[in-house]
Amino acid sequence: MKAPARTTTAVDTARLGIMLGELRLPTIKTVWPRFAEQADKEGWPAARFLAALAEHELAERDRRRIERHLAEARLPPGKTLDGFDFAAVPMLSKAQVMAVSAGDAWLAQGANLLLFGPPGGGKSHLAAAIGLALVEAGFKVLFTRTTDLVQKLQVARRELGLEAAIGRLDRFDLLILDDLAYVTKDQAETSVLFELISARYERRSLMITANQPFGEWGRIFPDPAMTLAAVDRLVHHATIFEMNVESYRRRTALDRKRGPGRPPTRATIKTADA
Ligand code: ADP
Ligand code: MG
Repeated sequence: MKAPARTTTAVDTARLGIMLGELRLPTIKTVWPRFAEQADKEGWPAARFLAALAEHELAERDRRRIERHLAEARLPPGKTLDGFDFAAVPMLSKAQVMAVSAGDAWLAQGANLLLFGPPGGGKSHLAAAIGLALVEAGFKVLFTRTTDLVQKLQVARRELGLEAAIGRLDRFDLLILDDLAYVTKDQAETSVLFELISARYERRSLMITANQPFGEWGRIFPDPAMTLAAVDRLVHHATIFEMNVESYRRRTALDRKRGPGRPPTRATIKTADA
């Protein structure tokens, strides 16, 4: 195709769009006309114009990456640190939670985070909220119910693909295994969870929530030696949050029932757990 005659300063904007597309600079491709107009009007130096475009492309790239990581993370919706009432868990240090949520050194070292406490105490909420903060900080996270992941790994094992399946999980800086305690007996009989823990040991981080600290873990692995070895690897480099509080659901249900200003003597303690 023969280029149409034009002055030396004229630019083929249609072709520019195609070139920017080929260079995979979609943001510059959309925003450049607006910036060019402003630059021409205000007499920007060429370097300032170019820098403004580059900055936009990078910022948008970061945003898209985090959006992608967020979709991949499968976090339960609506569970944020802002929405977490730290006053309800007085034994938990908010400063420590915030430090962990920044990702600092622990993810780089493949260290673990263990959350223990009775049902309804906010373990899943806190785990998801920390996960969300880490995604926003640029890390790759996967949130899964432990029993779902065990089931998938068992299928992989049957198809002789366990190692590959565990290897694919390496792309996540952090794997959040929610409710370790709910692994069932038949799931414990194969040792996929142990294989996963061993494979990630000192390399890739795990966050685990459980109703029972260690004592009951005998049910989760095929034999006592393996239980011991698993616990050993998990706690070797671990931060542990003990959340020994009464169920948040139950407490808020009680608060509602009491209503504002009613004397505590009239509060009914017998209430269905929401
Ligand atoms: P667990 O996983 O320990 O059983 P959850 O995280 O599922 O408990 O908490 C039960 C419900 O109570 C959830 O809806 C959660 O968002 C809410 N919740 C628990 N603890 C808190 C808290 N400290 N602040 C705000 N909401 C909380
Ligand atoms: Mg939970």
